[in-house]
Amino acid sequence: MNFNISVCCETCDEKTNCRLGISNRAYQPLRFRCASCGSPIDITMIPDFENVGIDIQVSGAEQVKTDRFEEGVNFVDLHLDFPVRFGEYVMGMTPYMAATMRIGHQEMQMHSVRVNYLNEVYEREKEIKSIFTLYKKGKANLFRKGALSFLGSSMACKSQLDQNRALYYVIEKSFFPFSEPKNNLDATSLYTEKLIELEKAKKDKLDRFIKEIVNTGFLKNVQEDCLEIYPRIIDIELMLRPALFLDFDKEYQGNQVPYRVSAHEFLDAKDLYKDIAEIISRALVLVAGFNNLLKRDSHDEFENVPGAPKDLDKFADYPLGKKLDFIDDPWYALDANVMDNQLRNSVAHYKAEYDEVSQEITYYPKREGIKQQKSESMYFLDFSRRILMAFRELHRMNHFTKCLFVYYYLRVLGEKGTPV
Ligand SMILES: [Zn+2]
Repeated sequence: MNFNISVCCETCDEKTNCRLGISNRAYQPLRFRCASCGSPIDITMIPDFENVGIDIQVSGAEQVKTDRFEEGVNFVDLHLDFPVRFGEYVMGMTPYMAATMRIGHQEMQMHSVRVNYLNEVYEREKEIKSIFTLYKKGKANLFRKGALSFLGSSMACKSQLDQNRALYYVIEKSFFPFSEPKNNLDATSLYTEKLIELEKAKKDKLDRFIKEIVNTGFLKNVQEDCLEIYPRIIDIELMLRPALFLDFDKEYQGNQVPYRVSAHEFLDAKDLYKDIAEIISRALVLVAGFNNLLKRDSHDEFENVPGAPKDLDKFADYPLGKKLDFIDDPWYALDANVMDNQLRNSVAHYKAEYDEVSQEITYYPKREGIKQQKSESMYFLDFSRRILMAFRELHRMNHFTKCLFVYYYLRVLGEKGTPV
């Protein structure tokens, strides 16, 4: 369903015609910028699904009466669930229609299942965030109560091993729309298989590695850092809906697609991108140590090439881009796009500009002093896609920390597993 409304910008009086596509969400905050003056205009829709009505509130502009959408007047299509086109109004070519034409009915249904599930995640946001906090604070009893109630389960949840398991059940249940569930299963079986392989071949060396990362608190820190990110993903779930749509869009080539995202803006997410990259960079220490064990006799022993760090501790201080050079023939396949160092550096060091109207991000990856000439650009939609991909990578690495903890509890401490 769609509503056509017209609004007049509070700042410059310019008129914009808006076609509002309705999502299934109880509360739908949309945002765009006035094409003439760049001021933000917010439209909030609260549908009454039972009585087929809707409450529409506008701020930053005034709603004005309109009979039809004239040519030559600013126009925006807005929809929370899909990327929408920029450009002229075309009657009948609604955001839903255009999106369906791009991915087909079947895939559209899969996309709907995921965004509808996100509506529930959003409604249980407080509960989910509280479970993470209780786990991090070590409030075992409260965590157990919260997690089991959220899961609707009575599984064992007393030992560290069982609590670790419950935590990851909660994560899977809350974040399945964002992740690629099959890939996580694949990743977990890869970790487990490699752990078994190492335990068979060199248990004492593996145990030394595990004890070092546990006793120094490193493993726990990486896990906690990952847990910090999940609630922030819920905070921007509206921004990620169009990015999720691109999972099904075969024409999407990863760059330069001028489609609009209808909620949030670049500034809301640039720190998150930088932080995820930072955590991935730290988690790479675990990947590298493990890689060294698989190839050589100690987690500290890197391939003997110029510039190689003398141990894992030194490796931890290397910048992200350099780290990848010293994980030889990695057992763990990293998505190169996720590690876009130039984008990360530009975003981290205020060398990125954002045009709110066109949603185009221009960034300057090279150090050039005052004259910043060589620029790269991407649309906000592409950037939000990068966040999604980076989050998926972080999620995969978080599963690695989980498996390392399971090994520690089971094989080093000798805890006993309990069936679900
Ligand atoms: Zn204006």
